[in-house]
Amino acid sequence: VNETIVIVGAGPAGVRAAETLVEAGLAPIVLDESARAGGQIYRQPPYGAERPAEKLYGSEAGKARAIHTALEQIRPRIDYRPGTLVWNCFQGKLNTLHDNAQGILPFDRLIIAAGAFDRVIPFPGWTLPGVFTLGGAQIALKSQGIAIGKRTVLVGAGPLLPLVASQYLEAGAEIAAVLDVTPFKAKIAALPRMMAMPAMVRRGLSYLSKIRRAGVPMMYGIRSLAVAGDRRVEGLAWTDHRGRRHQVACDAVGASFGLKPEMQLADLAGCDFRFDELTRQWLPVVAAGGRSSVPGVYFAGDCSAIGGADVAELTGIRAALSVLEDRGTPKPQRLRQLETELARHARFRAGIEAAYPFPNHLIDGIDDSLMVCRCEGVSAGDLRANFVKSGAPEVNRLKSFTRVGMGRCQGRVCGAVAAEILAAKSGLPLPEVGRLRGQHPIKPIPLVAGKQS
Ligand SMILES: Cc1cc2nc3c(=O)[nH]c(=O)nc-3n(C[C@H](O)[C@H](O)[C@H](O)COP(=O)(O)OP(=O)(O)OC[C@H]3O[C@@H](n4cnc5c(N)ncnc54)[C@H](O)[C@@H]3O)c2cc1C
Repeated sequence: VNETIVIVGAGPAGVRAAETLVEAGLAPIVLDESARAGGQIYRQPPYGAERPAEKLYGSEAGKARAIHTALEQIRPRIDYRPGTLVWNCFQGKLNTLHDNAQGILPFDRLIIAAGAFDRVIPFPGWTLPGVFTLGGAQIALKSQGIAIGKRTVLVGAGPLLPLVASQYLEAGAEIAAVLDVTPFKAKIAALPRMMAMPAMVRRGLSYLSKIRRAGVPMMYGIRSLAVAGDRRVEGLAWTDHRGRRHQVACDAVGASFGLKPEMQLADLAGCDFRFDELTRQWLPVVAAGGRSSVPGVYFAGDCSAIGGADVAELTGIRAALSVLEDRGTPKPQRLRQLETELARHARFRAGIEAAYPFPNHLIDGIDDSLMVCRCEGVSAGDLRANFVKSGAPEVNRLKSFTRVGMGRCQGRVCGAVAAEILAAKSGLPLPEVGRLRGQHPIKPIPLVAGKQS
């Protein structure tokens, strides 16, 4: 059967999915808003600004090269469309944007491999120039070869924190402090589970030892944060786990608190979601083989649950094998081995989630004056006051009253925090206040984008 198979995302998940389909004689369409393949972890600098893979990806240089090469090798046999944003999914069609030209792409099967982005929690000064997410700080380094400041403080609640710190140090940037808002004892308790993948643990320890050797203060269990400065970052103040106050001078802060899957396309495609207690977020329901609840729509990589780059490759292959199986190919032998490998990664992942528990205390500390939705200028106080006035303990109603999540980010950044604030104010469990419904365009598109391609 001649079917149109579309893959959104050319990171490790999307590339391995495409390669598996090509091996079976199919020619998928691969769309990615980035100009070059590789996704987040194996992001390539712009053409003409290349640097050696060892400098960019460290111990992961071999894997990065393998992904880039795989895409180049299959390129003549696929329809690869870099620089193409998918901004909507509607009745078996994707709305796309390339070079300011609109496109409509009907599909028979869709593999969503759109990755993840940083999870943001507001703290005083988070909207000042000079504050970035950890991912943003890393993108500046990988893509442009620059640090976000001359003297940077990095803050986080996940493995990206020691990784970005060690990458900055490796590049010769000055780091004033590395602050983990989760407790050290959580890491010790989680170690046996993380030992499901000893090589990963060793890699993590090597980042920590690099930070220590550089003499950079690294602290755990940070209770509160506040950026100092009126017009831009001049320092960061924090309270440690014993309640002691600290402050350092810096001109940039990289701060984010774990990762959040890019699941808006799944939402617009009509996929079912479930609330995940462990990570305190809504995630798409993933059935056997990476299938979604909608026939013909599949998940690969971090866009349905955070698993890391190796899992992304495995689930990319798995999603493609499921496509083949659904097209009538007998159940592939490789599937069982893949599932065994994925189970080992899942044990490791459970350890990581336990080592970096969601920092509820930062949510509790959000003051009324703090901006939650920076696109629409909605503060935590606005959200709380509207709940009191309207008595609407549902986040989509809160959106109607306050405009939270109606701006450029469509709630990607602020929606989860608004739900947390509403749950705390109403006394309801977080899943009961719901989640913001997906809306297109999932990422901003220019008004000039009128013409059809
Ligand atoms: C900022 C950031 C930095 C990270 N750095 C590391 C790291 O250094 N080491 C590590 O182990 N893990 C890192 N991670 C975790 C990382 O996401 C995974 O390990 C891995 O990259 C997941 O692979 P993936 O193929 O699922 O998604 P990704 O690698 O994220 O690839 C997804 C691709 O989809 C494209 N895309 C997304 N949405 C759309 C759309 N609507 N239209 C068109 N294209 C779209 C993106 O441009 C991207 O190329 C990072 C995550 C983030 C968010």
